[in-house]
Amino acid sequence: MFNTIIIGAGYAGLILAERLATQESQKVLVIEQRQHIGGNAYDRFDEHGVLIHEYGPHIFHTRSKEVWDYLSQFTEWHHYEHSVLANIDGHEVPLPFNLNTMEKVFPKALAERLQEKLVHLLGYNVKVPILKLREQDDEDLKFLADYVYEKVFLQYTLKQWGIGPEELDPTVTGRVPVYISRDDRYFQDKYQGLPLRGYTEMFKKMIDHPNIHLMLNTKYQDVMTISKDGHMLFGQPFGGDVIYTGKIDELFGYQYGELPYRSLRFEYDTYDVAYKQQVGQLNSPNHYDFTRITEFKHLTGQQHAKTTLAREYPESYVRGENTPYYPIIAEENQQNYKKYKKLAEDLPNVYLVGRLAEYKYYDMDAVVATALKLYKKLKK
Ligand code: FAD
Ligand code: UDP
Repeated sequence: MFNTIIIGAGYAGLILAERLATQESQKVLVIEQRQHIGGNAYDRFDEHGVLIHEYGPHIFHTRSKEVWDYLSQFTEWHHYEHSVLANIDGHEVPLPFNLNTMEKVFPKALAERLQEKLVHLLGYNVKVPILKLREQDDEDLKFLADYVYEKVFLQYTLKQWGIGPEELDPTVTGRVPVYISRDDRYFQDKYQGLPLRGYTEMFKKMIDHPNIHLMLNTKYQDVMTISKDGHMLFGQPFGGDVIYTGKIDELFGYQYGELPYRSLRFEYDTYDVAYKQQVGQLNSPNHYDFTRITEFKHLTGQQHAKTTLAREYPESYVRGENTPYYPIIAEENQQNYKKYKKLAEDLPNVYLVGRLAEYKYYDMDAVVATALKLYKKLKK
């Protein structure tokens, strides 16, 4: 009855459903354990009518025209460029740490000397990961690197990950480099924005097709089995393709142990004012147990008399109790992932794609790109 079964209705699953149904005329079954589509990018109106992101703030940004054009078939955009302030020593200063930030945290003469040094030694409009900046020999740059490390990265990272910056793959803290520039935007990608009517509406449009059958509130294990000897759906052998976007360790019964994740708890507050913060995101590296506060209306552009904000409290991921939000990108975990990946290669007609299935710290645009790539492979 179905050509392809897709497990998970996040970006990865829905894009493949859309492509296979509309371009290849396939009949597709999408199985999703949650009561809604959209995965972690799901958004909804809260009880006050404010559009919020249920699983953390999502800002779309990409350099890829292909990715942008693909999504633009299903949504118009609220053009938005993300601004983040960090609370450092009582000042709210621009993040990524840049030339403007220096003027806010250092006396004028010191800021000027550091700015000149940075531009002279490393160049203008250059992004330097904090762990790289710490390797510099120059005494002034060493001072600067230690300052930024201590004030911006150390405590935030300990809160967010439960481990320090050095224990993580350098790409993690490298996502927010020191930026030798006066550009206060969090991202510099060519295409940036949020779906005009929200992510969930975009996803609904994507899968609005008679060939796509959606089963919500269903764990795939309740209706099918996947094994190297063949798959079963509703007790019958299933010979089609299976696209899997859930956790890779779950697919193999955790036989090599669990791949670790970080989770989050969100606390929401709604106020009877139009806006509460100056910008969409306020980071708190050194105070409180939460890492950041997001005010959604800045992101979404929604006009409303009230405003809703969310604080993010990082916590350990415990299976069955909370959500696996962030794969912990560190050497040992990558080795373990590779063992699972090897098992996956022996499963006939099963394709793993997405943040959980590939155990990658993917942004949304990267998931779109990788899903489109898999579609092209399947098409052949
Ligand atoms: P998911 O969205 O996780 O979808 C997987 C789906 O599979 C889920 O719906 C899950 O319920 C389902 N599933 C899993 N197991 C089973 C099972 N056994 N049976 C049935 N269904 C199952 N990216 C950005 O580009 N910009 C941002 O600002 C941004 N902010 C983020 C903030 C947070 C807090 C988090 C956690 C992520 C953020 N991201 C952001 C990343 C973005 O969420 C992901 O790149 C994207 O959602 C991944 O899509 P996916 O389809 O791979 O996975
Ligand atoms: N980070 C930090 N301080 C900040 C912002 C980021 O230490 O004020 C580090 C932290 O380790 C974080 C990583 O940089 O997990 C990536 O930050 P990003 O904002 O990209 O995280 P995400 O939006 O994916 O949660």
